[in-house]
Amino acid sequence: MKYYSLKHGSPPVDFRTATLLGQAPDRGLYFPEQVPVWSPSFLERCRQVPATEMAFEVMAPYVAGSMPDEVLHRVLTETLSFPIPLVRVTENISSLELFHGPTLAFKDIGARFMSRCLGYFAGQETGKVVVLVATSGDTGGAVANGFYNVPGVEVVILYPSGKVSLVQEKQLPALGGNIHALEVMGNFDDCQRMVKEAFADQALTEQVFLTSANSINVARWLPQQLYYILAWAQWKGTTPPVISVPSGNFGNICAGLLAWKSGLPVSHFIAACNVNDVVPRFLQGEGYHPKRALATLSNAMDVGDPSNFIRILELFDGNEPALRQMLSSESITDEDTEKTIETVYNEHGYTLDPHGAVGYLALQRYLQGHPAAKGYFLETAHPLKFPESVERLTKQSIPVPAQVVQVLKGEKKSIITGTDYTSLRDFLLRFR
Ligand SMILES: *Cc1c(COP(=O)(O)O)cnc(C)c1O
Repeated sequence: MKYYSLKHGSPPVDFRTATLLGQAPDRGLYFPEQVPVWSPSFLERCRQVPATEMAFEVMAPYVAGSMPDEVLHRVLTETLSFPIPLVRVTENISSLELFHGPTLAFKDIGARFMSRCLGYFAGQETGKVVVLVATSGDTGGAVANGFYNVPGVEVVILYPSGKVSLVQEKQLPALGGNIHALEVMGNFDDCQRMVKEAFADQALTEQVFLTSANSINVARWLPQQLYYILAWAQWKGTTPPVISVPSGNFGNICAGLLAWKSGLPVSHFIAACNVNDVVPRFLQGEGYHPKRALATLSNAMDVGDPSNFIRILELFDGNEPALRQMLSSESITDEDTEKTIETVYNEHGYTLDPHGAVGYLALQRYLQGHPAAKGYFLETAHPLKFPESVERLTKQSIPVPAQVVQVLKGEKKSIITGTDYTSLRDFLLRFR
């Protein structure tokens, strides 16, 4: 499989190069040249075979030419190492729980797949690969955990001192080994600026192979379609599901649409957004106008210019009527998010996190207009990641899952650094 740049200014590359580069040299996002079409018998078989076998059939065409079968098998076994249950919440609404991974977030799946791919490619010939990321919290934990102990890969994570939650702060540096957490005595913008300077520093990048591991990387984007198929294998409805996806950068929902394009039965997709409503407005015909992101309770979705939306347009060949038929989008306020967490707990005994609550309410509103339909929403984070708001609204304390108990006991092992770029450069030069 080859991947072309959506800006059409760089040549097509294979999966390996797309993964190592992240973004095309012309700054475009990579997109697969063909979208495989699944046979009805494959979709039937998905209900019987183990998840890794299904995943192998889905991913093999995407990595073809870059990875032998046995490596892909190993990568997928290590990626899908935790349960992804579809849990019924009401008569019409189920929750696809994507938070049973090591950092309690759906990003674990993409991060684990990508980290194993990069580890394999680094081991081949490139030498050491240094993954450099700035994080305000959520992504960093999943990336750090995904790359932990992967040979040939060093991870350097910059995060603002005192600005991330306790669980996150412990998750980031607790690992050690090939994970280096730099606690920056500044804010998130300082972290991002330092990372950008490093990528732009040619004297550095000639000596150290830097890559970004961010969410536009095809190796993070493509494996996200797997859990839509796992949900289908658990779906008991007589008609295909309506699927509501809490969306920020739109990578997750774009992976769902990709699976649908390959043949996955889906009635309709809903992109559930908070008040950052660039896409809801676009789908209502108001044009595409990026905005500065507003801070909300569902902060992993505070995005004012979703980077993956362009991939969705590409999937539909720019055919906006066809897009609007398959995809609608709803904007949910913090006030309604809170009410939803409270009501769903009181009436159904199910604890939502703020992102899942946005997905739930958008789905519920859609189903009110389509009473014969049923659906599920993606629960993208464990409520424990947002204990302040969730415990206040449900008036219950959230039990701590086993994988986090260990983290909370761990020592914080960060390397404290200032906001000047030279200290980051000197740190990175050790990976020459
Ligand atoms: C990243 C994230 C999202 C948004 O996913 P996108 O692929 O960026 O749309 C939603 N919920 C949680 C908890 C996240 O961490």
